[in-house]
Amino acid sequence: MEREREKSVAVRFLGVGEACDETQPNTSLLIEAEKGGDAASIQILLDCGFSATHRYFQACADPEALDVLWVSHFHGDHFFGVPLLFLRFWEMKRRKPLIVVSQPGGLDAMFRAMELAYPGFVRKLTFPLEEVVLDAGQTREIHGTVWRAAQTEHGQKNLSVRIDGPSWSLFYSGDGRPTAETEELAHGCACAVHEAFVVNETDVVSGHGTVHGCFQWAEAAGVRRLALVHIQRDVRRTQWRDIQAMVGAWRGVEAVVPESGDVLRLV
Ligand SMILES: [Zn+2]
Ligand SMILES: [Zn+2]
Repeated sequence: MEREREKSVAVRFLGVGEACDETQPNTSLLIEAEKGGDAASIQILLDCGFSATHRYFQACADPEALDVLWVSHFHGDHFFGVPLLFLRFWEMKRRKPLIVVSQPGGLDAMFRAMELAYPGFVRKLTFPLEEVVLDAGQTREIHGTVWRAAQTEHGQKNLSVRIDGPSWSLFYSGDGRPTAETEELAHGCACAVHEAFVVNETDVVSGHGTVHGCFQWAEAAGVRRLALVHIQRDVRRTQWRDIQAMVGAWRGVEAVVPESGDVLRLV
């Protein structure tokens, strides 16, 4: 049976910053897909760092709206906002199950963070947490969307994720340098959001991507649109014009460098 197509799909950049950027909230994406007819819509949060949760609640006041949370890896700027997310859902008396997708051990890491931040609250939560383990090379189907993952090169194990809906596809890198596996995962994807910590391969920081490397990767993967995020704060400030010039000059891919709060329409 053909799955129902969406009326609209948007990616809202709750933040585009790296861990220490005092001017940009941590990189976090909110996907809102509105389906046609009677089919349910889906809302997905990709990563939830220190400063992302407040931005989530600025964007969405409905405690029942979030369907799926994805955590790419367990550095603080990607998951230390989870305890606050859970706490506020508890305070708002959320009832709907929340699907948590991540690599093996993911929900356990979130529970440990929750226990440190708000001891005893895991047992009080008013909504069930449903863990879906998605490791590199695996596929899962969640509410009519297909999820696959591949590992980047990063200081700890980080998974990039690709989500395919009926009429859209999105790749999100999390942290790390692209790999042959992530290139294969992103193959033919309509839109990729990739971290680019620095500009050129000559400046490369171990375990992080570059603007130039991301262009080459996206072109090799046949990605149509590329959004660059998680740019190192001093690089963003001092090399902004260089980055914009590269974005304007690169012919192989339609690229953007979003600001926090920007919205990208996929459908
Ligand atoms: Zn990070
Ligand atoms: Zn990281």
